[in-house]
Amino acid sequence: MKRIYLDHAAATPMDPDVLKTFVSAARKYTGNAHALHAEGVASRKGLETARTQIAGVLGAHTDELVFTSGATESNILAIQGVVRAAREAGIQNPHIIVSAIEHPSVLEAVRALVALGVKVDELRVDTDGLVDPRALRKLITPETVLVSVMYANNEIGSVEPLHEIAKEVRHARGMNASLYPYFHTDAAQAMNYLDMNVLRLGVDLMTISSGKTYGPYGIGALFIKRGTKIKSFFSEGIHEGGRRPGTEAVPLALSFAHAVLVAEKIKTKESARAAKLRNMLKEKILEKIPDATVNGNVEHLLPNMLSVTILGVESEALVIYLDAGGVAVAGRSACTTSLDGASHVILAIGKAGAVLSGTIRFSLGRGTTREDISYVAKELSRIVALLRGAGAVNK
Ligand code: PMP
Repeated sequence: MKRIYLDHAAATPMDPDVLKTFVSAARKYTGNAHALHAEGVASRKGLETARTQIAGVLGAHTDELVFTSGATESNILAIQGVVRAAREAGIQNPHIIVSAIEHPSVLEAVRALVALGVKVDELRVDTDGLVDPRALRKLITPETVLVSVMYANNEIGSVEPLHEIAKEVRHARGMNASLYPYFHTDAAQAMNYLDMNVLRLGVDLMTISSGKTYGPYGIGALFIKRGTKIKSFFSEGIHEGGRRPGTEAVPLALSFAHAVLVAEKIKTKESARAAKLRNMLKEKILEKIPDATVNGNVEHLLPNMLSVTILGVESEALVIYLDAGGVAVAGRSACTTSLDGASHVILAIGKAGAVLSGTIRFSLGRGTTREDISYVAKELSRIVALLRGAGAVNK
């Protein structure tokens, strides 16, 4: 059976040309990038080529880019690293602000800091999953060292107003005549569709991930603007400017860089193509399935994302039935009777009702076709009717 993969927000298949780069780089770069011999020098050059290519797309200096294992590590380094450096600089009670719909890797990094006495405030989102930048003014204090708001949400695809947030952060710096707060964004979902220029966005720290960009898994990066005070937890970390340990993965870095260049090149065209297909999917679902609602406002969504909440069904059942029908999607329940299993994002946009409903996320990709969309909409409406009719779940 043909598979239709609509879970690109979770993982993207590797671009075939990027895979070729990975294989040839793995053959070519055999030396440790820190060795003094010719093999080491070649690897070092390979690594710096990768860094230069990615920095070019971000509009950053090469010394502003640290390779990591992925977005999770970048987020932890950004958040905990800024707080660690602030404490060392004498700020005893640092305060940070994060949005309510951050990825669990951000929320976990923050939770660990709360246990260490760091004060945290959450920036709420509206029913479209968007933060209000003006709300930041009330939350920022002279102790605020970091504001972290994701670029695009991984569950519903809402694209946050980074320019406006950056403006508020700069305003607060001016008021406090301070370096702080810094502005970090988790841009793991953004690379394929949005502007990634750090100067235009006005960010001080930005997380990116290869595995969401048709590159290999196991590598990502953190942009750290020159002058930003950050301290890694790796005291022995001699690599990546003392920020992380381990021999640099040159083949991963070069193939990640290739993936970033491809994404940048086809971004405009792919965005328009994905949006067309996504809108088609949205229309078909709303037409065929009663009591289905779209999460977020399509004017402010990633073009490839569609999150739908459907009354009277469980998301796990939808995911399993769709999978049996050859379709891969992601899902999570939002139901007040099982709040533990509910998505914090769906709760934050006020979608958890008193009745059972299931939310599923379609994230389209470069290989998605019109035929795929027609099949998926038909299959979903058949499955919803089946589940509702069977009365297998409470309505
Ligand atoms: N942040 C966001 C917004 C994500 O979507 C993801 C992956 N789902 C991550 C962070 C974690 O990414 P990685 O697997 O590269 O650590």
